Amino acid sequence: MNFELSKEQSLLQAMARDFAEKRLEPIARQIDEENQIPAEILAEMGELELFGIPIGEEYGGAAGGYDGYVLVMEQIARISGGVAMTLAAHTLGLGALDKFGTEEQKQKYLPDACKGKTIASFAFTEPGTGSDPKQLTSTAVKEGDYYILNGTKRFISNANHPGPCVIFARESESQEVTAFIVDKWCEGYSISEPWAKIGMKGGVLTDVYMENIKVPAQNLLGQIGQGFPILLYGIALGKIGTSTAALGGTLAALEEALKYVKEKTHRGAPIAKFQAIQLKIADLKIKYETSRWLCYRLGWLANNIKDPAAFAAEAALAKAYCGDTVVEAAKIAMDAHGSYGLMKDYNIERILRDALIGPEIEGVSDMQKMIVAGSLLKR
Ligand SMILES: Cc1cc2nc3c(=O)[nH]c(=O)nc-3n(C[C@H](O)[C@H](O)[C@H](O)COP(=O)(O)OP(=O)(O)OC[C@H]3O[C@@H](n4cnc5c(N)ncnc54)[C@H](O)[C@@H]3O)c2cc1C
Repeated sequence: MNFELSKEQSLLQAMARDFAEKRLEPIARQIDEENQIPAEILAEMGELELFGIPIGEEYGGAAGGYDGYVLVMEQIARISGGVAMTLAAHTLGLGALDKFGTEEQKQKYLPDACKGKTIASFAFTEPGTGSDPKQLTSTAVKEGDYYILNGTKRFISNANHPGPCVIFARESESQEVTAFIVDKWCEGYSISEPWAKIGMKGGVLTDVYMENIKVPAQNLLGQIGQGFPILLYGIALGKIGTSTAALGGTLAALEEALKYVKEKTHRGAPIAKFQAIQLKIADLKIKYETSRWLCYRLGWLANNIKDPAAFAAEAALAKAYCGDTVVEAAKIAMDAHGSYGLMKDYNIERILRDALIGPEIEGVSDMQKMIVAGSLLKR
């Protein structure tokens, strides 16, 4: 057991911290207010190879593993939840392509996506189903060498950006859930106005409308009827992103609280002198360290998946814990700010709004706990 970062991991972490502090911090509030990440920032992230960290070099990735991805996500999310959400949804899409794509599909889609020239999406949620994707109703009808896709996908991250989108639909002959790679903005593809969500702004969320989208048969991802395993595997990897987005938020909450309680004075001394404040600081540190080690371990586990179901349970555990914990941490840090924490002048206001997203996405926290319990009770 070795808890020290390797030299490569330390360098990757330092690079991400440097980028986040120098390039994201000055515009984090702007991203939140405009619900948009400037194009030059996305381009810089591409140059730094942040869009393809766990993907192999042969497909244009940085070959940094999921352990490297965890370190980067933590630093990005510490500064901007919206940028972290964009990166997490993109990496989720790439993870599924990398695992289940044919050599041809990987050569076609991964290199541009790893450089940030395209941004990936992963679409399963529909107006009628979120936690229970077996109920999805989008259809794929075979017509010659094509599948014709119809339906609506709800709350899809990055759907506004060009690039590949892994879309789940029911294949009409087999009636089985099947995955397809759709080129966003192809004919028949359109999106709604962005949802006005509470936090993680800049990570744009829209519905996707599929009206007779013609998908070449070679864009079938995996086999007909393999959609559900692809979905489960993809979402399990995706929970590394949601867990570490929460981890970064917890670190930000700790840092904001520490800064404030040293600056704010009562009767001439910082409020850090109060024991009640010290207890809050200790609670925040405990929450950060527990989330941190769960996430770092999850990154290592993702590099070494032997049993996908066992990994899915570990990912669910980390996601449930980190997602709930960031909300508690942000609230504690806000309490330490008193009324000032409610004001947009203080970062903790945005950190709490961003935190509230964590427990509700990629399967709500209760669903994660049911996965954890299921993995224990079936034994
Ligand atoms: C910021 C953001 C980004 C997102 N990005 C994407 C994306 O890129 N792609 C995508 O496909 N989706 C995305 N989503 C959608 C998200 O993953 C779903 O909304 C989420 O899985 C929850 O589904 P739901 O909202 O339909 O909740 P529901 O499934 O309706 O759950 C509502 C409540 O019912 C409870 N519940 C549901 N089923 C059961 C059950 N069987 N037993 C007990 N309780 C139950 C839940 O615990 C929850 O409390 C995103 C959402 C957000 C907010």
